[in-house]
Amino acid sequence: MNITELARILRITPQELHDILPQLGFDIGQKAIKVDDKTAQRIIKEWPLLIRRLELKKREEKKEGEMRREEKEKREIQLPNLITVREFAEATGITVSKILAELMKNGIFASLNERIDFETASIIGSDLGIEVKPLEQAEERLEEEKDKLKTVLEREKKENLVARPPVIVVMGHVDHGKTKLLDAIRHTDVVAGEAGGITQHIGAYQVRRKDRRITFIDTPGHEAFTAMRSRGAKVADIAILVVAADDGVKPQTVEAFSIIKAAGIPFIVAINKIDKPEANLDKTKQELSSQLNIIPEDWGGKTITAPISAKEGKGIEELLDMVLLTADLEAESLKANPEARAAGTVIESHVNKGEGPVATILVQNGTLKIGDQLVFNGQIYGKVRALKNYRGENVPEAAPSTPVKILGLKLAPQVGDVLEVGEGEKVKLKKIGVEHRLPSFIPETKEEEGGKKINIILKGDVLGSVEAIEESLMKIGTREVGIKIIHKGLGNITEGDIARAEATDAKILGFNIKLSPQIEELAREKNVVIKNYRIIYDLINDVKAEMQELVVPEIKRVDLGKAKALAIFRTETKSQIVGGKVLEGKIEADSLIEIFRNKELVAQGKLVRLQSGKQNVNIVETNQEFGMQYEGDPVIQVGDVLDFYKEEKIIKKI
Ligand code: GDP
Repeated sequence: MNITELARILRITPQELHDILPQLGFDIGQKAIKVDDKTAQRIIKEWPLLIRRLELKKREEKKEGEMRREEKEKREIQLPNLITVREFAEATGITVSKILAELMKNGIFASLNERIDFETASIIGSDLGIEVKPLEQAEERLEEEKDKLKTVLEREKKENLVARPPVIVVMGHVDHGKTKLLDAIRHTDVVAGEAGGITQHIGAYQVRRKDRRITFIDTPGHEAFTAMRSRGAKVADIAILVVAADDGVKPQTVEAFSIIKAAGIPFIVAINKIDKPEANLDKTKQELSSQLNIIPEDWGGKTITAPISAKEGKGIEELLDMVLLTADLEAESLKANPEARAAGTVIESHVNKGEGPVATILVQNGTLKIGDQLVFNGQIYGKVRALKNYRGENVPEAAPSTPVKILGLKLAPQVGDVLEVGEGEKVKLKKIGVEHRLPSFIPETKEEEGGKKINIILKGDVLGSVEAIEESLMKIGTREVGIKIIHKGLGNITEGDIARAEATDAKILGFNIKLSPQIEELAREKNVVIKNYRIIYDLINDVKAEMQELVVPEIKRVDLGKAKALAIFRTETKSQIVGGKVLEGKIEADSLIEIFRNKELVAQGKLVRLQSGKQNVNIVETNQEFGMQYEGDPVIQVGDVLDFYKEEKIIKKI
């Protein structure tokens, strides 16, 4: 018989069969492709018994190993959610090469500065004999981070504070023209245009208007939302809420406004696309008033509304003047001490090929200089080797409200991390804060360690619901079946989403979005599943149901009791009638039986009838005698120990 055929019958892979046969005493050689039929039949027949023997042997070995390990002192360390391989090595005292090798065994190819997540760290840790626990003070630490900048500024003496440029964030519904507006504003600055030609994208830029500088946060829509949500007013001083005059107030307009309100910062409404024939200023203002209670100044309210056309560059200068006006009203808080050591917030961060980790910092107090030591989360991340402004020019320093790209980092900080320029020594690993904002680098396979993953692309109308759904989905994942959110975003499903879904074998889940017939058609063509929901509960339940289907039932062995064979009354080809006595536990009808002789497993079988005092019974307890009909190889001899157990199928509920 072919090895492949035999493996198929035994429901394992040919390689597994090759590996396992020698352990069972069949030495057929690694290269063999056939076994003779007699041997094959023997293997098939004895397979369950052989496997069980092997399992018992392994368990015995493991027990010994565990005992040995317990003798050594058990080590325990606390780690944050993300940690670089190097930091992990330092914390555990295990060599980097050993950790890398262990990671590789788990299918993760990491480099020294790459981050691994907590779960990975704990798996690797336990393989290497270290118990890894989550860092306890993590949450507190995040709060601390949030207030750090405030404290920095409060510590400054009033007489040292001087005016700094206002920092502006642009928010609004998708497609209402945020990007276009940021472009239009950039082009108002003739100086920038002349000097550098194209501005570099570093997540923020500055323009000059009436000899004053204004800083604009220039992160793509969704990121801007998230950044504002998680950091509140820590970065921006003033918000521009963009509303398209041909579309009016939309879900993300409402959401953007609630984030602005929560941040407690002043805002201006830019009513965009006034060049369009469908533009309706009055209707837009009407919606702002009725839906958001934003009453325009010219309607007797307090909010400045500026009609603009980002496309044609109309009204942009007036909008900037309004920004300056608003900044004047906030003059007291728009101050910093340029003489101090720098503090600021990371607004962009990534690892560049060639350049290594680079980050853009918005300096919020003090002046950042070349040579400054960069401390994030109480840990040194490197030294400033060079600073580049938004035009890509090298600059020696960056004053308050200036965005600069930093070169010289050894580790990439995370967006939202607070920078403090330090002189301190290296702070211990335990003090590293929560770093859950960036996804870890670990490539997720669809099936890892027996676990299956459902890949999902999530699209929703507003960030609030996308976040809520994501959070609920992450909670329902189990060890065997998890969910991986390949991509999430706001707005309708695009061709890009479908391409991404196709490439990652993901399904697209929409929430409160519209599906165009073209997109539906394309999805059908590409075999991509799209499901659209209006109720979060339904979405979560559907995903749960799908996960449930992927859960493989676990067979659990439940030990019942042991008995000794005292008499053999009858022996047939496939059964025996045996008398015995329960040594410990109990015996139940329909049990499975393992027969041990001198502690060696010799056969497996089934109990088909159980009797006590000539009566059929369901249970026989310890010390009672019984008679039973046994089905299986008739090998039981007087003196054998019979191990009774049951198998339970457990389907874990998601
Ligand atoms: P965002 O999603 O808010 O960043 O929106 P974009 O800036 O990408 O703009 C969405 C679409 O609206 C693009 O096709 C722009 O060209 C267009 N758009 C933006 N501003 C204007 C405008 O003032 N007038 C007109 N007619 N179209 C505009």
